[in-house]
Amino acid sequence: MSILKIIKEPDPILRKKSQTVDRVDENIQRLMNDMLETMYNAPGVGLAAPQVGITKRIIVVDCARTDEPPAPYKMINPELIDTSKEEIINEEGCLSLPGHYADVSRPSTARVRYLDENGNQQIMDTEGLLAVCIQHEIDHINGILFVDHLSSLKRNMILKKMVKAKKER
Ligand code: ZN
Repeated sequence: MSILKIIKEPDPILRKKSQTVDRVDENIQRLMNDMLETMYNAPGVGLAAPQVGITKRIIVVDCARTDEPPAPYKMINPELIDTSKEEIINEEGCLSLPGHYADVSRPSTARVRYLDENGNQQIMDTEGLLAVCIQHEIDHINGILFVDHLSSLKRNMILKKMVKAKKER
């Protein structure tokens, strides 16, 4: 396994809509293992393929608390097939916008359909942090960042800081 480079905003790749995966093969399985290792190393609780420069519909998440055993999920072509009307507010951050956090409101439960690493379809009901995390990562494969859920004032403030930080890198 290897640690991949995480792409930071601003980068046009983060705004692209990712492609559906047609075939789950060894390359896809290796990519998902590398993404998990990259996520744990960062550390973070979720990572989407475009964040490592690959515009494929693949996400990995692990929202287990530090006192719980690891609970990694590798999801290919994930889709929200149902979400609750009820929303929860959670402070979100993103490995592509390091150092920035903001409260985001999202549905508190989500039913997600995806292919697992063996190419089998799975349907999972999620709630709380896991539901929020999966929604954040599915946004990524649609070219959406968490700041897009904020007011334009807050969003622009963070994006301006990211542009400035890039110039200084
Ligand atoms: Zn993110």
